[in-house]
Amino acid sequence: MDKITVIGAGTMGNGIAHVFAMFGHQVNLVDISQNALDKAVATITKNLGRMVSKEKITAEQQQATLDNITTHTDLAKAAGDSHLIVEAATENVDLKLKIFKQMDELAPEGCILATNTSSISITKIAAVTGRPDKVIGMHFMNPVPVMKLVEVIRGYATSDETTEKIMDMSRNLKKVPVEVNDYPGFVANRILMPMINEAIITLFEGVAGVEEIDTVMKLGMAHPMGPLQLADFIGLDVCLSIMHVLHDGFGNPKYAPCPLLVNMVTAGKLGRKSGEGFYSYSHGTKDWIVADTFKK
Ligand code: NAD
Repeated sequence: MDKITVIGAGTMGNGIAHVFAMFGHQVNLVDISQNALDKAVATITKNLGRMVSKEKITAEQQQATLDNITTHTDLAKAAGDSHLIVEAATENVDLKLKIFKQMDELAPEGCILATNTSSISITKIAAVTGRPDKVIGMHFMNPVPVMKLVEVIRGYATSDETTEKIMDMSRNLKKVPVEVNDYPGFVANRILMPMINEAIITLFEGVAGVEEIDTVMKLGMAHPMGPLQLADFIGLDVCLSIMHVLHDGFGNPKYAPCPLLVNMVTAGKLGRKSGEGFYSYSHGTKDWIVADTFKK
């Protein structure tokens, strides 16, 4: 089995480590924060425990998966013999460029360097390395152990060989990989974020209220969650930053972020993580209600 290094043990990194380890790979999970690593192992243990209680895996498989994961705070100690490194650190261009330069220096020559970025150009990241043909986007969806899709993003210089390897590895994780090219927002966020932005514009213009908009999309389009609720779950700051990527990248006014979205982020109303967005989460995440500002 392959040796995989996962950089960043947050929401996505712990899920990515979970999935690779469950399918028998040796995983080095790296984070600058020991606390993040401890939380990640606790989350993986809890999520595997849930799978055991649903009889999806056995207790032995749970233990074998945990045994496949080693945690590190020092990338230099982890990257040395990796076949694949998947970077899932904080979404920040300068940070990713720094990490990729470091990975390029530390990783063996044949090692593929993948990023889970939601919005940063793969071509730009690849350009700081000496192996742009081996740099690729491997965009898992949240929650990683549950969601089937992997958006596999080819940068300008990504080779066919690298792409095929990542498509195959994704299939071996029982995921469904989809190959796309490196343009702003790739495919997932190019379609999702303008839909969320349009839902916010619909609210901003007074066409309908929060619950009405979400109900139309849930019951009318069979979406499991309304777009405003989904925006709260993703984080309004994340939605805004991806709209900026689309707007800057295409220079098309149709991607201009709604002024209400800009105002909410400026006011610190970021959705579930800050306790309030379109809905209020002060009663706990399972009991949200429309935020006071949007009540009729
Ligand atoms: P997060 O904030 O939950 O976790 C990021 C982790 O990276 C933190 O634990 C942080 O300590 C760590 N980190 C920061 N600098 C580091 C460094 N130099 N070396 C090692 N670790 C470092 O973030 P997340 O939501 O897991 O997102 C990670 C990546 O996945 C981002 O690129 C994001 O765009 C992408 N993504 C997120 C989602 C989502 O729903 N959260 C979905 C798809 C893709």
